[in-house]
Amino acid sequence: MKRVVPILFFTVLFLLPAHRSYCWGFYAHQKINYYAVFLLPPEMLVLYKPNIAFLSEHATDPDKRRYAVPGEGARHYIDIDHYGPYPYNTLPRKWKDAVAKYGEDSLLAYGVVPWNIEGMLSRLTNAFKEKDFGKIMKTSAELGHYIADAHVPLHTNSNHNGQFTNQRGIHAFWESRVPELLAEKEFDFFIGRAQYIQNPGDFIWKRVLESAKAADSVLSFERILTRKFREDKKYAFEERNGKMIRQYSSAFTIVYNNMLNGMIERRMRQSVFCIASFWYTAWVNAGQPGLKELANKHFSESDIKEFEQLNNDWNKGGKMMGREE
Ligand SMILES: [Zn+2]
Repeated sequence: MKRVVPILFFTVLFLLPAHRSYCWGFYAHQKINYYAVFLLPPEMLVLYKPNIAFLSEHATDPDKRRYAVPGEGARHYIDIDHYGPYPYNTLPRKWKDAVAKYGEDSLLAYGVVPWNIEGMLSRLTNAFKEKDFGKIMKTSAELGHYIADAHVPLHTNSNHNGQFTNQRGIHAFWESRVPELLAEKEFDFFIGRAQYIQNPGDFIWKRVLESAKAADSVLSFERILTRKFREDKKYAFEERNGKMIRQYSSAFTIVYNNMLNGMIERRMRQSVFCIASFWYTAWVNAGQPGLKELANKHFSESDIKEFEQLNNDWNKGGKMMGREE
């Protein structure tokens, strides 16, 4: 039975209709968590390196959960343009103040990614204090996901899939098509070391504001290039995961990436750095517990059941709950 599950999983993945997309795409999320491990100090590497396959594979769990849990979607984005012009000072950065001003329901409606990241960080700190192997691994993988999402410009804008400007598909174009075509060959993931973050709240809000500022170029450059490319040159039948599908052509993708002048590579690199630094910060704040003895631990029965359940729900091929991307 166990051997059947992965086969089914991949079969379903290939058969997915084209409208199904994921934050940063599965490919980029997995790469980002993978590279983040190499920024850690030796005291953490003893645990993270042997579990690097888990951390990359499960980087996508929060996106899978969007097909089963209605409240999950809001944790991945914030439509910050809803709160007025940049730098959106009308929106309090502290959760309590924001709730007092707008109410929780309204905040949830427009997305809560930065506050979710702060919550996940304290969950990870507690996991380190408890020396709970399963909780450390699961929370690290998922924290990585949400941090990476916060670095995506279209995760901070209400026109998140170009739906207001006749640019549907731009979401997956930016965060899946470009990295899948270019990351391996052209992006540099040699990034240095994780750093202790004094004020994680401040730090993540800065990243969100950078994303928000970049959203306009992400959208407008695609529009400019679309005027220059004939329809049959903009899209092409090209290979993806071993299948020929109609997608943005390589030529269009490369020109777009050049026009963005390295933005996607920078956001990926910044994601990697931020994730490693948040993992490291949680560990330091927990009092730097020794992790060597956790290195040979395994996931509990209930953890494994939880992973299987998540995959089963996702494999059913239902609709993404909340808003589509
Ligand atoms: Zn996501």
